Amino acid sequence: MHCLDRAHETGFKSKAFVRALEVARSLPPDELAQRADAGTLTDLEGIGDSSAKVIRQALTGGDVAYLADLEASTQVAITAAGAVYRDALLSDLHLHSRWSDGGATIEAMARTAVALGHQYMVLTDHSPRLTIAHGLSAERLEQQLADVATLNQQMAPFRILTGIEVDILEDGTLDHGDDVLSQLDVVVASVHSKLRMAEKEMTERMVQAVANPNVDILGHCTGRLIGKRDPSTFDADYVFAACAQFHTAVEINCRPERLDPPRPLLQIAIEYGCYFAINSDAHATGQLEWQPHGCNRAADVGVPLDRVLNSWPLEQLLAWVSAN
Ligand SMILES: [Zn+2]
Ligand SMILES: [Zn+2]
Repeated sequence: MHCLDRAHETGFKSKAFVRALEVARSLPPDELAQRADAGTLTDLEGIGDSSAKVIRQALTGGDVAYLADLEASTQVAITAAGAVYRDALLSDLHLHSRWSDGGATIEAMARTAVALGHQYMVLTDHSPRLTIAHGLSAERLEQQLADVATLNQQMAPFRILTGIEVDILEDGTLDHGDDVLSQLDVVVASVHSKLRMAEKEMTERMVQAVANPNVDILGHCTGRLIGKRDPSTFDADYVFAACAQFHTAVEINCRPERLDPPRPLLQIAIEYGCYFAINSDAHATGQLEWQPHGCNRAADVGVPLDRVLNSWPLEQLLAWVSAN
């Protein structure tokens, strides 16, 4: 599952695969074998060509080969220059769990982060406005903080920082009040609605959010989905100048369908002296391995490595977010 998450951009295919496995498991074993022989697995609802292939390989004892293949073929490619950034990363500052729309528990995400060599991570589930993503109300967030405290005792010295991906509302205010946001270690603020707003309004909206003292990182700033949704339009000079002035880092979002900001915007952010965060925005454990996408881009445009927040030791990051 981990590899499938890593391999697929939307998570759809891995969900489809899980469903196919459920269908396969519900069949009597001889019917499964017969269908595999006869090539009629795909007649079953929920089993497509690739799932059928996996089932056939599993039945003939080829499962190990399949997994080895998958491991090799789903590795995210990294350039030599990108590897310098990836090697420097000590954490991931934007990721989701089952508490909102992620597919894995906080613990599973944390254990994967440890396995990837991270020293800490920030848990950033969605805020309540994003109802389709089961955004966290203040009450649920409080429960989550208690869970995180328990996990931190179990997983020390690894540290799960508390956080949220808070929606930037249409008027530039945030989807939680300062009373809630000020309790959290790190706040990522992102636009998820009205992405087609006129440039002037979008600029004001973003600048207001970026200027909020509780906001530490501006998430996927243009909201683009490559090939599906154009980037939103805003005055990059104003927005990145505000990011620099108010010490709000610009996220380099590593999701393959986002890769946000686009390179020209990233260059403008560098010119304004912004800070950056190279974040996976993972919604499943395998997606935590997407940071190379952002590292490659950071290297391409020459993001100063010492300005990348998640290359800093935990104490340095905590001092920066609390001072700014
Ligand atoms: Zn988001
Ligand atoms: Zn997110």
